[in-house]
Amino acid sequence: MTDELGIRRGHALRAAVERGLVDEHAPVVGLLDITGIQQTATALHAAFATPGVEVTHTFAVKAASLVPVLALLGECGLGAEVASPGELALARAAGIPAERTVLDSPAKTTAELREALTLGIAVNADNPQELARIDALIAGAPSTSPVGLRVNPQIGAGSIGAMSTATATSKFGVALRDPGAEEWVLRAYAQRPWLNRLHTHTGSQGVPLQLMAAGVRAAYDLAERINAAAGRRQITVLDIGGGLPVDFASDDVHPTFADYADLLRAEIPGLFDGRYGLVTEFGRSLLAKNGAVLARVEYAKSAGGRPIAVTHAGAQVATRTVFVPEAWPIRVLALDAKGREKDGEPVAQDVAGPCCFAGDLVARDRALPLLAAGDHVALLDTGAYYFSNHFAYNSLPRPAVHGYTAHPDGSVDFAPVRAAQTEAEIVAESGGGLPPLRRG
Ligand SMILES: *Cc1c(COP(=O)(O)O)cnc(C)c1O
Repeated sequence: MTDELGIRRGHALRAAVERGLVDEHAPVVGLLDITGIQQTATALHAAFATPGVEVTHTFAVKAASLVPVLALLGECGLGAEVASPGELALARAAGIPAERTVLDSPAKTTAELREALTLGIAVNADNPQELARIDALIAGAPSTSPVGLRVNPQIGAGSIGAMSTATATSKFGVALRDPGAEEWVLRAYAQRPWLNRLHTHTGSQGVPLQLMAAGVRAAYDLAERINAAAGRRQITVLDIGGGLPVDFASDDVHPTFADYADLLRAEIPGLFDGRYGLVTEFGRSLLAKNGAVLARVEYAKSAGGRPIAVTHAGAQVATRTVFVPEAWPIRVLALDAKGREKDGEPVAQDVAGPCCFAGDLVARDRALPLLAAGDHVALLDTGAYYFSNHFAYNSLPRPAVHGYTAHPDGSVDFAPVRAAQTEAEIVAESGGGLPPLRRG
């Protein structure tokens, strides 16, 4: 399957250049492997499938906020984890049903909570103040929404601090090990018979599987104590979050969803014995390997003896990679003018983006076949987060995204996922239609 991923990608990169999806007017585009996305969704379902256990897989919309992608995942049986009014609107536009939608966010306004409770989508409260708002809303208008509480098991960080949500001082959820916290949680459930879920998400990328499982274990143990205190199965669903890490160094998919599900089965057998429904919220692991950024090399130059390829893919599409390169390295393929992989002798070179600041490099001192003007580069494993975290530096447009189906004979079908942002849109979004500010 992983070889096939690279073969399909190779066909798609070449076809995208041949068909002019990338050219002078569109010097950078995103590509998504439709077959790969479907296969990844199938692998996720298979990993967690357990007789007698209702499992709802939601996709973390922030990882690919693209309506056709959400709709494809919806057809594959997934729902949506949303964390803002915009993400909820995207999920609804994609036709994701309310019963497969979960709202998580650390800063939900009363208006957002009211909308979620009216729609009947699941809500995970982040903190006591938010729970009090939900109390008031439910008292005024009964809701069918499942409601949970997000807890932070404070089990520690992974290798990327900014991605670790279960540290002692994380901003997310109720910090379980703080003095009095667990007593408060037990009381909160005792006072609210409708509070029927428990949520935890230990982090994204860089969190080892064992630590993820330890976070789920802490939530499971707490649910057992809450239900024992209630004398009934008050908590019916455990939402175990997402966070499966992705290997950005090769085409290998590891760890797999099956690795993680098997570890959870071994460490927490009660999770799968039918007493709880499960919700997952994976993002990166569903999409990363199924996407690539394809960009033209505009110029090839040299400075201080270092060859530099100046391309159209920089911080505007690869923001984290450019600003925090140690945490987010990506593989770069050197492609020729026709979009075929170059096979020249590797030469250490920088691969730069189009932004006007010196650090705008997606690879530094990287050994690649020497890039020349008119060549192309592909940034691999960029299907998650890279198309949804556009950085509007230099008013560079959000690039178009195309889905592809690559057939064994090398032919490729493309389907539009998102049009490139136009200059007229950039002007309009920048106040272009508004009157000039008056001198005072
Ligand atoms: C970001 C996020 C996810 C998805 O994380 P991935 O690492 O992309 O799987 C899931 N749940 C919550 C609450 C999140 O904030």
